[in-house]
Amino acid sequence: MKRERSNLLKLLLALNKRMYFDDALFWEVNHYELGYQYECSTDELFEKGDWLMIKGLSLTDKGKFLVQMDLLVLTGDKLLLYEEKAYSQPANDCQDGTIEFSAGGKRYTHPLEQVKDAHRKLEHVLKGLDIPLEVESYALLTHPNCYIYNLPAWTKNLLIQSQIEKHIDEQMKKRQTPTSLTKVYQEKLLALHHDISEYNSIVPEYNYNKLQKIVKCPQCFGVIDQIPKSKQHMTCPWCKDKIIIANIVRMAFDDYKILFNQKPTAAEMYHWCGGIFSKIRIQKILYEK
Ligand SMILES: [Zn+2]
Repeated sequence: MKRERSNLLKLLLALNKRMYFDDALFWEVNHYELGYQYECSTDELFEKGDWLMIKGLSLTDKGKFLVQMDLLVLTGDKLLLYEEKAYSQPANDCQDGTIEFSAGGKRYTHPLEQVKDAHRKLEHVLKGLDIPLEVESYALLTHPNCYIYNLPAWTKNLLIQSQIEKHIDEQMKKRQTPTSLTKVYQEKLLALHHDISEYNSIVPEYNYNKLQKIVKCPQCFGVIDQIPKSKQHMTCPWCKDKIIIANIVRMAFDDYKILFNQKPTAAEMYHWCGGIFSKIRIQKILYEK
């Protein structure tokens, strides 16, 4: 099954269509989206193994959020934990638990420190669940332009993009195949997943009145403000792409649901889409089978 965007990312993308984001937030959202795209590509590489996967686990313990894990691979003998980073430029290991990017000099927690923290928390949870699998953890730099200079010579569990496929092949040879018990372990871990991303503090304040009532072209993100001549299709006035009306109405519907946590009525959808699709058309697309 394809990895889903987190609720936080879905919410930010929906907001970004209808309100102004400052440069920092705009950059952050694009960075999240890029990270998601790279995670999907990495998933595809891992799919060829005979093992079970958990993609994006927000691990909780007794209802308390512990840590976000990008990818877990459950084999018959080991649980492989992966922290993925889609940094698009090289960085330097500062030897103090941080890395620094040459462009801009921004400092971030070292991916290996994050892995260590996630590893420790996962082991704690496994103990509580009586899962006897040993954990092996890795940081993956999934963007082809990223490399970390000045790493200690003994670093074995940080892989750059070009090493990932070889690593997967090695694991496929080494690891035991999952058993029916592995499936039980997977379900136990999934039961602890809770998407807490909606409480994230980077989401700007918003309400219905503050947001623009528009639809945008899925291809070029240009605003579409003309009433379509056909019931099924229209041409984007900006990029001239052919747009299927039902698709953008459904997208606007999903945005409304994620932003306001409720399903809009046809009348609300008419307003939400900027009044360019008739209520009857919206009714047909969304509410009739
Ligand atoms: Zn367009």
